[in-house]
Amino acid sequence: NKSQSPYGRVLLKLSGEALGGEGGCGIDPDKAAFIAGKVKDVYQLGVQVAVVMGGGNLWRGANGEKMGMDRTTADHIGMLGTVMNGLTLRDALERQDVPARVQTAIQMNQVAEPYIRLRAIRHMEKGRVVIFAGGTGNPFFTTDSAAALRATEIEADIVIKATQVDGVYNADPKKDPTATRYTQLTYKKVLEDRLNVMDMTAFTLCEENDIPILVVNFWQDDDLLRALQGDHSVGTIIT
Ligand code: UDP
Repeated sequence: NKSQSPYGRVLLKLSGEALGGEGGCGIDPDKAAFIAGKVKDVYQLGVQVAVVMGGGNLWRGANGEKMGMDRTTADHIGMLGTVMNGLTLRDALERQDVPARVQTAIQMNQVAEPYIRLRAIRHMEKGRVVIFAGGTGNPFFTTDSAAALRATEIEADIVIKATQVDGVYNADPKKDPTATRYTQLTYKKVLEDRLNVMDMTAFTLCEENDIPILVVNFWQDDDLLRALQGDHSVGTIIT
């Protein structure tokens, strides 16, 4: 199965919101099916696919803290949320005949495999999508950082930050009609101009390990597929 993409192995970061129903909250099975379809498209390019799921549709540690909770406990709850999302995506993928496994950074052996790097790589080599859940396994981190970390560990060729916007703009396109999209950016330019791509921990990890970041609209037509086939007219690539 020859790859139709310049990328051999990709890591897709999906926010929990993508799975949410009304207002981006909870788990909507129809959204899960849609996301699985998109992941399947990428998979069918012949690319090895790993996915990091966020959990913001269910819980965010920072919100718990604002309500007076201990932050570490609140973050533990958040990480558990990402496991719920990961299981949802695995189920949706399997129902579309895409073999998939969930590996979690927080051990819960009855529910998902523990994160084992070489086993994750083996799964992908065998044509299985690997879903990394549980974030980094540590409080005070984000799933963006988990994406950067796992991408580095599994030697992914690119991190795909799936969003609802078409890429990185020089201003907020929702507020400023003159805002234009960058097709390409350097890590340096992103830092200098304080452009919002990923949180700083995640971004720095990608920069230090020379992992390109592709910001692309996950929802719009076949933007994701085109970007993964090297089409620079969609999304923004940061190198
Ligand atoms: N979280 C954490 N450590 C991690 C990743 C996530 O503690 O390594 C917790 C944190 O509380 C966060 C929540 O899980 O608010 C959900 O993750 P995130 O906000 O990154 O999800 P997303 O915004 O991508 O949906």
